[in-house]
Amino acid sequence: MINIFILIAGCSNLILAILVFAKNRNSQNNISFSILSFILALWAFAFIPYNFPFVFDSVVWIKVIYFLVIWMVGAIYYFSYAFPDNQRPPGLGLIIYVLLNIPVAVLLIFTNYFVVDVLHTIDGPETKLGFVYPFISAVWAVYAFMSFFQMVRKYRRSVGRFKLQLRYMLIGLGLFSFGAIILDGLFPIVFHTSAYFSLSAALPFFFIALTGYSIIKHRLMDLRLALQELIVFVLVTLVVSSIFLSSALVYWRLTDTQIKTGVIGIIIIISTVATLIFERVYRYAKFFAGRYLFQSIYDYQETLKSLSTSLSTYLQIDKLVDIIIDTLIRTMKLHRVAVLVRDFSNDHYKIQKTVGFNEENGISMVRDNFLTLYLEQNPKIIVLEEIGKLIEDSQNLTEKERLKQLYDHMEHIEAALIIPIVNSGRMISLIVLGHKISGDSYTVQDIDLLITVASQASIALENSRLYREVSDLNQDLHIKVNEATTQLQAKNVDLEKANENLKSLDKMKDQLIAVASHELRTPASNVQNYLWMVLTRPKPTTVLDPEDKESLQKSLTGIRNLIKLIADILDVSKIEGGKMEVKLQAVGYEEVVRSAVDELMPRAQKKGLSLNYIPAPNSLSKAMADPTKLKEVLTNLITNAIKYTEHGGIIVSTVQKEDEVVFSVKDTGRGIASENIPKLFQKFYREDNSLSASNPETGGTGLGLYITKSIIELMHGKIRVESILNQGSIFYFSLPTVNAAAITASPSRKVHKGVFTAGSSGKKKILLIEDEYEMRTFYSELLSGKYEVDTAIDGIDGIAKLRLKTYDLVLLDIMMPKLNGVGFLEEQQKDPALAKIPVILLTNFNEEETLKRCFELGAKSMIIKSDVLPDQIISVIEKEF
Ligand code: ADP
Repeated sequence: MINIFILIAGCSNLILAILVFAKNRNSQNNISFSILSFILALWAFAFIPYNFPFVFDSVVWIKVIYFLVIWMVGAIYYFSYAFPDNQRPPGLGLIIYVLLNIPVAVLLIFTNYFVVDVLHTIDGPETKLGFVYPFISAVWAVYAFMSFFQMVRKYRRSVGRFKLQLRYMLIGLGLFSFGAIILDGLFPIVFHTSAYFSLSAALPFFFIALTGYSIIKHRLMDLRLALQELIVFVLVTLVVSSIFLSSALVYWRLTDTQIKTGVIGIIIIISTVATLIFERVYRYAKFFAGRYLFQSIYDYQETLKSLSTSLSTYLQIDKLVDIIIDTLIRTMKLHRVAVLVRDFSNDHYKIQKTVGFNEENGISMVRDNFLTLYLEQNPKIIVLEEIGKLIEDSQNLTEKERLKQLYDHMEHIEAALIIPIVNSGRMISLIVLGHKISGDSYTVQDIDLLITVASQASIALENSRLYREVSDLNQDLHIKVNEATTQLQAKNVDLEKANENLKSLDKMKDQLIAVASHELRTPASNVQNYLWMVLTRPKPTTVLDPEDKESLQKSLTGIRNLIKLIADILDVSKIEGGKMEVKLQAVGYEEVVRSAVDELMPRAQKKGLSLNYIPAPNSLSKAMADPTKLKEVLTNLITNAIKYTEHGGIIVSTVQKEDEVVFSVKDTGRGIASENIPKLFQKFYREDNSLSASNPETGGTGLGLYITKSIIELMHGKIRVESILNQGSIFYFSLPTVNAAAITASPSRKVHKGVFTAGSSGKKKILLIEDEYEMRTFYSELLSGKYEVDTAIDGIDGIAKLRLKTYDLVLLDIMMPKLNGVGFLEEQQKDPALAKIPVILLTNFNEEETLKRCFELGAKSMIIKSDVLPDQIISVIEKEF
């Protein structure tokens, strides 16, 4: 019976030693605990051959036992200093211990002054101890006492979790030492009997049981997960050893051999080792299978691909956060996730959404700003179980203390990970994750995935923040305008001043929209440009497999959708602010229809659809319209028709009536349910909300028809639709006609969509003036194959370069530091030698007044960076040279 106890205590100690060591090989806490546990295990095991001698006789085994005691007392001493704050024992104490124990070891191994003999009695072996034993045990007792004292001192000083952990370990070690002193000291010395020696081998059981309890209750050394593994391990070992044992028993019975207890012990040890090895082999096999046969628990690439497409689809923060949380819960299998977002107006973090966490708990993490400041300086994922390491690495005492508090806090709310989301060096958001439902730890693969998710989330959240800021400011301005108006009405004083105030506010709003559009479009065009570059002009060293190519293609479509969304939102903002300008003039509308149809032809053909234009036989008058806007309307309707049609084709026609022209776009597509027709022209309405995440080709914003209707109405027209489900739709819109002879068309300048009108001398020297590094490098790389491209970083640099060399063309950004586009043009006009060099604006900036000024100053035309694909720019410039 006692042997079974010894065996269990030994095995548990051995396993605990291995687990604790594996958990953290660098921590003094873990190392010292493992050493102690390991020696306790060996010590307990040695009692088995002492009781049932094999290979050597009991005298040798008792000497082994005492030899291990030398190490055990040393290990307890070491541990009592190291735990829990990694403090080393005093060097002098250790030296004295080693010096004192060298003669002990010599006496023990080579003489019989320590162990005289072992007598075999009916009750088991009994050791006769020599005369030096009392002195030696006194030395050990002194060291045991010092260790105990040390732990009590630490216990008194410590607070919180460590105190509770220390309490249980102290009781465990105390019971163990107390038992050992009685059984191995008092009994043999005072009563001259060592018959109870074997009992002491079961004593580590106390130590193990209480440590185990502490692990469950207070997560000692973060071993809760390890303990779960341990339980599984013990169960497996029991199953394995019982299989071996039953086979051995059957064998002994069949062969009529006597049962050999030593063999049983060996079987148990072998089973333990076999289980350990099996576990390792299994883990490696799983790792290799996951890595090389692509059978990981979740598909890393797939998750990222779908996340990035979904994130690029939305600008609303709620939606983005929903997507992030949903992806994390699904892939990592979690109960709890919280996303906190920084409010830059007051620098507070607010819970954007939480699943599973108590809201108050989430907020309390960022109540004082230690966590956020810490993360800003160390923008890395914080893993609960690794905070101990952070504490060790930290040089700063307050930081150490605060990290400890953070640890307790995370533990309290059951958070396992904190992911900082950083953009341009500023923290914009925090994601807090709970433990996995399975109880498994986060793997390296998980952390890698989370890092990538964080960087994707960072871009999406920042875009969303900019967008939100703009709309908030917009709203503030509305309020201010209203206030100013009320002021004006109420006081009726200083009419002129108030009016000016209003005007300047209005101007601010326009600038704001223009700046925001620039801020949002620039990063988007950067991404678009590089994707395009990789896809169409990869470097010779770039190897893209079809799958990579497909994902890049999807990302390109996604980013173009995003750019379209930004443009749409700006249009909506203009419409709602009454800022959408239409320049009505007599338009030969057939020409406009033809050009829209021609441009969309490749898209229809790609889908196998026909696209035809049938003009009215009697079209004589012209329509009263803005040609650019008319084309935009037609493009929208035809694009929708192509998008929502799978078979057949699209027919565009125009019918001239007395005082109006009716345009129609007819398709043979999926049609629209009659109950949905009234909602069609509402903002953000989409018939089914299948989003571009699943199919970028049919994705959209739900803004197209709203904008279309608004533009038509601005041109004094009307729009309606007829549709039969699954048969097709016809969108009609009418515009008033004009007497062409009566009105002379005002010349309209050519803007947009890469239309290039600069006169060219046929030479090929281009100066690109652009402040942003990425844009500058990109465009100069793009163009330098064909032309001689020089770059300048702002207006001043641009003027200086123009004076040094003759250029045929200047590509000019508008928003630049020092001297902006307008300033550059002003300077250029002052110098007759430079004035004649044609300038094309290459920008994302579209504030009406600034642009007007640029054209007044001689700019020939304008290319909106995000509206054209880079190859269109080249083809436009190519035509010119
Ligand atoms: P988007 O196409 O970006 O979603 P729109 O405002 O252009 O936004 O269209 C709104 C909705 O009207 C679409 O989501 C679609 O359900 C429906 N719709 C528009 N045009 C057609 C069409 N030709 N055939 C069928 N449904 C259409």
